[in-house]
Formats: sequence, structure tokens, C-alpha cells
Amino acid sequence: MNRKASHYIRLVLMCLAFAFVLGLVIGEVAWTLVVVLGGYICWTLYQAFRLHSWLYQSEITIPPEGSGLWGEIFDGIHRLQKDHYRSRDRLQAMINRIQESTNALRDAVVMTDSMGAMDWWNQAADRMLGFKHPTDRGQLIYNLIRTPIFKRYFSSKKYQEPLLINAPNNPNIKLQVQITLFGEDDRLIMVQDVTRLYRLEQMRRDFVSNVSHELRTPLTVITGYLETLIDNADSLPERWRRPLRQMEQQSQRMEALVNDLLLLSKIENDGQNFVQKDVDIQRILHTICHDARSLNTEKQHRINLEIASEAHLKGNTTQLQSAFSNILLNAVKYTPANGEINVRWYEDDKGVHFSVQDTGIGIDPEHIPRLTERFYRADPSRASETGGTGLGLAIVKHVLINHEGELEIQSRIGQGSVFICHFPIKRVIQSDHSETSTAAE
Ligand code: ADP
Repeated sequence: MNRKASHYIRLVLMCLAFAFVLGLVIGEVAWTLVVVLGGYICWTLYQAFRLHSWLYQSEITIPPEGSGLWGEIFDGIHRLQKDHYRSRDRLQAMINRIQESTNALRDAVVMTDSMGAMDWWNQAADRMLGFKHPTDRGQLIYNLIRTPIFKRYFSSKKYQEPLLINAPNNPNIKLQVQITLFGEDDRLIMVQDVTRLYRLEQMRRDFVSNVSHELRTPLTVITGYLETLIDNADSLPERWRRPLRQMEQQSQRMEALVNDLLLLSKIENDGQNFVQKDVDIQRILHTICHDARSLNTEKQHRINLEIASEAHLKGNTTQLQSAFSNILLNAVKYTPANGEINVRWYEDDKGVHFSVQDTGIGIDPEHIPRLTERFYRADPSRASETGGTGLGLAIVKHVLINHEGELEIQSRIGQGSVFICHFPIKRVIQSDHSETSTAAE
């Protein structure tokens, strides 16, 4: 109890004592006390009434004058009220400033709750996504951005990678969406206009694809003439034979390069917009192993195929076949004679997997993260020996992106390599019969 309160209690007690003494003097103790206490209650009620009418005024005003404990109460409440209004103004100013700065942003910012109901968004969101202030407040965001991929992305809670969508009100505008979780699964959604970058990227792809396409015809003519010349090599002077053979080798390399560039730009351009079919992986594996064995008569590798799952995959046969065959042919290229190559198709609770393990020259781990870049070679001096285009693993990477898969590479110099393509369960199509089969040569 503070000093003022005890002083007040003392005052009340003194009044009561005075009333008691007065009562004794006039011989009416009970009545005197009743009158004094009644007066006190009336006064208290009066002060409470003043407090009530002051508190419930619409504006903040100076508190009523009061003495003693009531004066203290009025002043205390007034001080708390002032503190409260001051911090409210400060917060409001801060909110206004944040809103002003986010409104000045060129990127859209949207805040939603865990279900997707929109709480707040900036002006850029009105412009880019066609939202309307304030009528859209509380609407579910995926009812306004009506693309199934956005709804899937929103609900997935996997936001490591951004999502690319068309603007809802203009399909020529490309938007990149990035979501961040905060609070209790609330979402902060940032949307950026990436049309210019997208066009540049598209131009790059088109350029590569057009150049490759244009190079194809002259190359076919050159290779054709070279073949004819080589067929008639007997009638040519001896000194021409070696250069001709080298020219043929190099033109074949260029053809392979042009074909790979075309394939890569097609796979990139297609993205996931191809007809998703039931791909018979087992048949692909038999075919690529057969091809690898017939290409590989010189090195006498043992190529073992183990099919431990009868599962098929939802996807594109041509793309998957070219990815798997690139990995297997790399194993053939980079494994010395008499080595062993194990090809496996298996499944577990995470999904289905294609793996190729070789006993080849291996790769220094420092190169592994960059192997899927175009023209990246762990050892550039090997490129001419093996005749590779440097695009094989870039093709593999894009095929896996299109099939929601991932590439895992384990390798050490001199200890061989393992390339594993992981595919998620949602891509699996279970076939009716499931038995394990193995084949080796
Ligand atoms: P390339 O046509 O040069 O083989 P890739 O993109 O297919 O191009 O492979 C990129 C690089 O990765 C190769 O140059 C090679 O250095 C390395 N590489 C790929 N597969 C293997 C493997 N099985 N063993 C050793 N190195 C490999």
C-alpha cells in the first residue's frame, strides 16, 4: 500500500472517530455514524459517476478535478490514457510508413493467413495481380490467382524454389512468386515481374536452337561429301586419307553437338508441357543396355542390369530414354577396358530410382556440383579423347527437372562413380505384375 492510500485510510478513520466522539457528546452514536457513513457513500458515488462520464466521452479530455484518493485515480487514469494514445500514434505512424514504403515497391507483397485469406497487400499487387482494394480483403488468394500450379505451390509449403506463372490479367506478363511462412503458417507472398528476364532467356534458347538448326543442313552436306570421298579413298592420293578421316571424325562430332544442342533446347522449351504418359522403364533399360553392349565390344565391359521394380513412370519416353542412355554411355566412356557397370531400377518408400554404377576413372568431388553445367568437363583434356559433347549431363538435368526428379552423383578419383536419378512417388505408376529380374553380360 503506498503512502497516499494509507494517509487516506487514516483520514477516513479519523472522520469515523470524530463522528463517534460527536455521537457520544450528543448521545446519538449510531445516528451520527449512519449520517457520516451515508454522506461518505454519497460522495463516493458522486465521484464514481464523474469518473464514468469522463471515461465514456468520445474524446480524450482533461480529467475532472478531484481531491484525495479520487484525484489520484483521475490523474492516474489520465496518465495511462495519454501513454496509450501516444504509443498508438507511434505504432500507427510506423504502420503508415511501412505501408508507404511497401506501396512504393515495384514488387507485389501480399499477406495471407494460413488458409490463404488475404489480410493486406500493396498497390503493386493491385496492378500486377488485379486485386481490388478493399473488396478483395478476406478473399482466398488462389481464387483470384486461378492457376492450379499456384494453388499446388501455395498448399505445398515447399518454397525453396520460386514459382513462375502468367499474370492473371495478362498472359504475356511472367511473374515469379516467392512465399515465406511466418507466424502460425501465415504467408508473405512476394511477386516480381520477370517478363524481361524471361524474354531474354527465351531469346537465348531460340538463338541456340535456331543456330543449331541452321548448322544442320550445311553439316549434312559436308558429312555426305566426306563419306563419298572416304568411300572412294582408294582412288585418292595416300596423303589425303588421314586428313579425310579426321575431317569425318570432326564433322561427326559437330553433328553430335548440334543434335545435343537441339535436343537440349527442345527439352528446355517443353518444360513439363508434354503429354504425360505411362513410360515403360523396363523396356527402355533393356534397349539402352543392349545399345551400350553393342557399342562396347572393344572395351569388354560387364554391363549388368538389375530391374528390382516393375514400376513405370509418368513422363516422356524420349526424354527419359535420352537421359538414361547419356548416363550409361558416360559410364561406358569413362570406364577403362574390362570394367564393370551396374544398372539398377529399384523402388523404396521415397520413390523410384535409376542408378548406374561404374568402376571407371571417377571424378574429383570438387567438380561434382558443376557437372550438369553445359560444356563443363571434370578434365578438359579428356573431352577430345572421349568425343563427348559436354552436354550429356545438362540434358539429364533438364529431363529430371521436367520429371520432378533429382540427380545424385557419388564419385572419387580412381574409385568409379554412381549416378542416381531419384523420382518422387507421385510419378510412379505401379504395373500389375511385380517380379525381380536381372540380366548380365
Ligand atoms: P561429356 O560429353 O563430356 O561426357 P557430360 O555432360 O555427359 O559431357 O559429362 C560432363 C563431364 O562429367 C564429363 O566431361 C566427365 O568429365 C564427367 N563424367 C560424366 N560421367 C562420368 C563418369 N561415369 N565417370 C567419370 N566422369 C564422368
